[in-house]
Amino acid sequence: MSSATPVQNTASQVITTDNQSSVEKVNLLGLSLDKMIAFFESIGEKKFRAVQVMKWIHQYGIDNFDDMTNVGKALKAKLQKVSEIRPPEVVYHNFSDDGTRKWVIRVEGGSCVETVLIPAEGRNTLCVSSQVGCSLDCSFCSTGKQGFQRNLSAAEVIGQLWIACKSFGERDPSNPRPVSNVVMMGMGEPLLNFENVVDAMSLMMEDNAYGLSKRRVTLSTSGVVPALRELGDRTDVSLAISLHAPNDELRNELVPINKKYPISMLLDACQEYLDKCDDKRGITIEYTMMDGVNDTLMHAKQLAKVLRRISCKINLIPFNPFPNSGYQRSKPEAVSQFHSYLNSVGIVTTVRSTRGDDIDAACGQLVGQVEDRTRRSAKYAEAAQ
Ligand code: SAH
Ligand code: SF4
Repeated sequence: MSSATPVQNTASQVITTDNQSSVEKVNLLGLSLDKMIAFFESIGEKKFRAVQVMKWIHQYGIDNFDDMTNVGKALKAKLQKVSEIRPPEVVYHNFSDDGTRKWVIRVEGGSCVETVLIPAEGRNTLCVSSQVGCSLDCSFCSTGKQGFQRNLSAAEVIGQLWIACKSFGERDPSNPRPVSNVVMMGMGEPLLNFENVVDAMSLMMEDNAYGLSKRRVTLSTSGVVPALRELGDRTDVSLAISLHAPNDELRNELVPINKKYPISMLLDACQEYLDKCDDKRGITIEYTMMDGVNDTLMHAKQLAKVLRRISCKINLIPFNPFPNSGYQRSKPEAVSQFHSYLNSVGIVTTVRSTRGDDIDAACGQLVGQVEDRTRRSAKYAEAAQ
């Protein structure tokens, strides 16, 4: 193995970083259009070649240069020498009875992440992971319990969409977008893998790649405020905020990054983001409902008050249990009461149906068994007495 600097995203580096015997190839899968063009220029080729190759990779699901019929022999040979199209490896896939598909994908270094496709009402929504594990340690999240291992490369992020589209077989001109929506709601905190996620999202929205509109690409964050501020200068995807609590005291406990960036600061940053976007869409507030923790009428009232100042809709997510989590899903009556109250005060509120339960593909179930490090169940049981 060469000890060269990783060359994943920068074309020029492929020529210059490795002064040892083997040159690490650039993985073209993860290059945004700008970077693809820069790469082609760095090897003395014209811009239009970058577009041609990009279409083969992302629109036709091609992962070898030989199949690119409008690319000449000499260029194919050149590309083969310095670059490759290397999707992440699928180690397992499972299709649920309700149409949900889940893939376990091995990324470089041997770790695995999960990707889930959820079909609903004429849409196919892909839930994409951005990191192996997560450092933010939200108390109700199984990914958080894993700790952080590493960021995914742009190729590994976009590779999940590439794999999902390919699972629909040959490209069908009457259905050019088999995956119609992408949500960055899989494993990891996307704003802590900023550059790679921004590049991957630009490919999702790129006409020469997946051509999804900005309304159909959603980034979900637990509230990394400085990165959120920067995001508005780089993209205008839809935004989902993992709030989960209507006051700082409770949110500090559930979403510890709140101690650094409390609710009011987070909502300010959301408003700035909305102001920078061309259209006046609101944000989505995600609110995972846990029995006896954040699901009473009092919480709903506080939530409505806190959100008064921002254009938003609320998505209530019944907690998805995992072993030793220490939490339980809210009772249907509690969800229903919460839902009705918010709608009654004029905030559009929906309840997310829990899909893919039978194959452990629902939100927050994206890892195996973990220990309850905190004895949370006992704590809440005591508090309830
Ligand atoms: N890190 C980002 C995106 C990944 S988590 C974020 O936190 O927004 C995607 C969504 O699933 C978040 O809203 C998260 O709070 C929610 N989630 C995590 N664990 C969950 C669980 N066990 N049950 C239901 N939702 C959960
Ligand atoms: Fe990380 Fe999101 Fe899970 Fe929190 S909810 S630990 S930010 S993946």
